[in-house]
Amino acid sequence: MPATTPPRYAWLNGRFVPWDQCVVHARSQGAFWGANVFEGIRGYWDETDHQLLLFRMHDHLRRLRQSMKVVRMVTDVGDDEIIENSLELLRRNDFRTDVHLCVVVYYDLDPAFDPMRPTDAVGVHLTAVEMPRSPAYARGAAACVSSWRRLSDDTMPPRVKTGANYHNSRLAQHEALRNGYDTALLLNQRGSIAEGPGSCLVMVKDGTLVTPPGSSGVLEGITVDTAEALAADELDMPLVRREIDRTELYLADEAFMCGTLSEIQPLVSLDRLTIGDGRPGPVTLRLQALYEDAARRGRGSAGTKNTPHWTLPVYPAVEMAPQ
Ligand code: PMP
Repeated sequence: MPATTPPRYAWLNGRFVPWDQCVVHARSQGAFWGANVFEGIRGYWDETDHQLLLFRMHDHLRRLRQSMKVVRMVTDVGDDEIIENSLELLRRNDFRTDVHLCVVVYYDLDPAFDPMRPTDAVGVHLTAVEMPRSPAYARGAAACVSSWRRLSDDTMPPRVKTGANYHNSRLAQHEALRNGYDTALLLNQRGSIAEGPGSCLVMVKDGTLVTPPGSSGVLEGITVDTAEALAADELDMPLVRREIDRTELYLADEAFMCGTLSEIQPLVSLDRLTIGDGRPGPVTLRLQALYEDAARRGRGSAGTKNTPHWTLPVYPAVEMAPQ
């Protein structure tokens, strides 16, 4: 069960505030239209070193800036300020568990209260909450193909991580839950597989990882990028970006959802047809272990090129006592 006790602090427009006071006006464009862009970053608690590691923070901020560019949003809050205050926020809340940090840049209240007018009023808030791992990580998820189509680049670009896009995700996820599934996969406007409500899809077929490209109507995932690097470095397995048919996925050897929150989450059935033998497959399990090592311990086995740059420690390192 997710934690129900809120953390003590949040950060809003330059100030640390009590959690309950991290509020934006109901008539702000961000709150009213979902006119914001955001990133969710996981922090992994390492019990051995008593350290909390933010995973791929810089890459998330790079994608945040890309989202801002498309929605023509400007803020003078720089990446360094976001990083510094995110770290301080996590320390002030004294998190000693896995966390989910959200960086949100939003359109604020227009001085003339016009909800549609381009406005320079832009705000930033940072919040972090405890975020345990999903139970589907171990047992695998059952998905359906949603009756809702994924939004597309010519309507609401999924490449842009804006709150408004999650209306589409919510319709799909809630429908799936009502019908007894764990999650959904949305088809794009051409009828091929796009992604889940909050994660990308990767299938394993004949020793290759396959995922839909950005042009299939997906958010270009950082977790997919991680899986790609780990698979190339450690499993000598390539990842190919190409369109995937629904029936191809029924016949895949393995499949997994891939996202900051879902991590590497086995997908064991689609539309009640088992994928592979209906259990988390060997490649998926291997990638879960590699991901865990990279994210929670900031390391990969010899040969992994990227992992040291992926983690950002929150707490000062504890000096080892001399032996
Ligand atoms: N697609 C959607 C719609 C998402 O919300 C997410 C989560 N951010 C992803 C894909 C996966 O992206 P990432 O691996 O960067 O978290």
